[in-house]
Amino acid sequence: ADLRKNQSKEVNMNKAVVEISSPARLVYPDMQITKQDVADYYEHVMDWLLPGLQGRPVAVLRCPDGTQNACFFQKHHTAGMQVSTVSLEEEKGGRQDYLMIRDETDIMQLVQFNVLEFHPWGARADNPDDCDYLVFDLDPSPQVSWANVKKAARHVRELLEQLQLQSFVRTTGGKGLHVVVPLTPAVPWDDARHFARAFAESMAGAHPDRYIATASKKQRKGLIFVDYLRNGRGATSVCSYSLRARPGAAVATPLRWDELGRIKSSDAFNIKNLRQRLARLADDPWQDMPGLAQTLPDLA
Ligand code: ATP
Ligand code: MN
Ligand code: MN
Repeated sequence: ADLRKNQSKEVNMNKAVVEISSPARLVYPDMQITKQDVADYYEHVMDWLLPGLQGRPVAVLRCPDGTQNACFFQKHHTAGMQVSTVSLEEEKGGRQDYLMIRDETDIMQLVQFNVLEFHPWGARADNPDDCDYLVFDLDPSPQVSWANVKKAARHVRELLEQLQLQSFVRTTGGKGLHVVVPLTPAVPWDDARHFARAFAESMAGAHPDRYIATASKKQRKGLIFVDYLRNGRGATSVCSYSLRARPGAAVATPLRWDELGRIKSSDAFNIKNLRQRLARLADDPWQDMPGLAQTLPDLA
């Protein structure tokens, strides 16, 4: 509790530092949402957002001319950005400065640079070679009903439970769901990747009428792609409480498993109605995550 208090003090001191330029610029023109509205949103959710980002390298999606024009992913530091960085080894060799999130100021600086989406690594900047959570990214093809997407997420949960692994679900704000598996202690990326792939392939092998574990688009008709490819060094997935640069200004939203049933779509929560959800929540839907000490089973 003390840590939290100290943190918010520092944050408040820093708050005044980030000035939002062009606050009236429309970011989601269909909804009349401005850059200032986006900044206000991120200020409002800061205490919920930060735990999923803090201390991690991050890729961000920038939309300098709003969501109806070109947006681009950025993972490296660029000149003029006053954002924390971490020097990391690149997959292909050499080192690069990666963007990382230390505190609220980093987030608001990125918002000032027209960032809408935050996509952290599943690893901490001080331990980049070890994965501390897996993400099973369920990607339905257009023919799949939302009910079946939810069913698939519960199926992933059950199979993980059989391996003594607890998991957590979130809407992506897009079409699918993410099932997140925290790992403490963290595991080498090779192990994370092999486990995730074997898990996805075993699901698709057992239910080829529902799931597919290969990325090829043309075979996917009517199936859910169990995308295990988020689980590699340098791969990212959108974090909880990130906005999405899609129509409707949806928000990736963590859920309790027992509320999944009544959620109407992956983009059910958005910049407008998320505040009400947070105000009504008695507890963090993922409150059990920090205390979990679980790691991958040995795969025979
Ligand atoms: P949906 O539910 O609609 O699939 P999603 O966020 O899961 O939403 P995906 O296309 O499945 O979207 O992508 C999964 C993750 O992969 C993203 O959240 C993002 O972090 C990462 N990703 C996808 N495309 C890129 C890209 N071009 N550059 C960097 N990261 C990407
Ligand atoms: Mn997805
Ligand atoms: Mn995907």
